[in-house]
Amino acid sequence: MATVEIHGVRKSYAGREVLAQLDLAMTDGELICLLGPSGCGKTTLLRIIAGFIQPDVGTVVVGGQDVTKLSASERRMGMVFQSYSLFPNMTALDNVRFGPRVAGRPKPEQLKRATDLLDLVGLAAHAGKFPHQLSGGQQQRVALARALAVQPQVLLLDEPLSALDAKVRVQLRDEIRRIQRETGVTTVLVTHDQEEALSIADRVAVMNGGRVLQVASPATIYRVPADGFVARFIGSGAVLAGVADAGRVRMGALMLPATAATAHAAGQHVELFVRPEHVRLEAMNGHIPPGALAADVRETVFLGALTRIRVALREADGEVWADLPSEHAEAFKPGSPVLARWDEAAPRVMKRLM
Ligand code: ADP
Ligand code: MG
Repeated sequence: MATVEIHGVRKSYAGREVLAQLDLAMTDGELICLLGPSGCGKTTLLRIIAGFIQPDVGTVVVGGQDVTKLSASERRMGMVFQSYSLFPNMTALDNVRFGPRVAGRPKPEQLKRATDLLDLVGLAAHAGKFPHQLSGGQQQRVALARALAVQPQVLLLDEPLSALDAKVRVQLRDEIRRIQRETGVTTVLVTHDQEEALSIADRVAVMNGGRVLQVASPATIYRVPADGFVARFIGSGAVLAGVADAGRVRMGALMLPATAATAHAAGQHVELFVRPEHVRLEAMNGHIPPGALAADVRETVFLGALTRIRVALREADGEVWADLPSEHAEAFKPGSPVLARWDEAAPRVMKRLM
């Protein structure tokens, strides 16, 4: 178990920058998710932490020790990959005791550790099975046990759930969280799935284009996104273009309330970000009361308990989504005129990315 610090790491391939001046600090025992779109540099960063790749510039410090020049095997890290990477000709038990065996631990210790870990991941009864006799989810559990068998200082998981079907993915996600808490091992989990990141991370590091845009708790990332990219990437919502004006946002003929609007000088182009749970809809009966926006329903999407309704604002060039309990959503058919409202405190204004 250890702290992990990334200081000023850069990496380019053939002159193309993949990681740009990246800093990240993890506390001991923390589970951090690296979240970002495909190609943003997540795997590269993970492999730099693991020691499979050297950064062009910058250092990796684990438990206070600069490990940048150490090889992967000298770093004592456990890794689980996206695709099943078990040794196909070994049983689950032999896969898990592989690390301690190579490290020259006595055989009784290898067996005890492997048995305990298979128990921890819920596979005690499958110790004698070969990978092809196990489901995808079970194989990833074995891979997790194998990674833990070296008693790693840091556990690195590169999209370990992405090859699994949705139900197994959620089960194993919760298992990973439980096991991480029980073992207390500092863990970096890479994912491009925001729901996965928000549900299990202590903190989420949102990446794009080789940079970390924001590192914060899931709740903060969701409620106070650092910029338009984070806002769009996490959860869902509408982003409207507007102009800051005396602590509000002007959009066409509308002046709209928003938090953080005062942080922007009048006349500055900004983005207004509104989450669907903050938009309320009412039937329109001709009269438009103050604070309400005239709109027209464009589309409804049934999501089970909720129905998501897309409406176009009449006085501005923009659309917002509203989530309504499905039993209240029946009244809002595509084409019907509605009033949209939101709380002053709900939408956030961010500097517009030009
Ligand atoms: P992610 O895991 O976020 O999808 P990666 O870290 O795998 O992203 O890759 C980031 C970028 O670096 C991608 O554009 C990828 O094509 C490029 N890249 C990764 N590894 C190499 C390599 N060995 N040689 C050249 N380009 C690479
Ligand atoms: Mg990757």
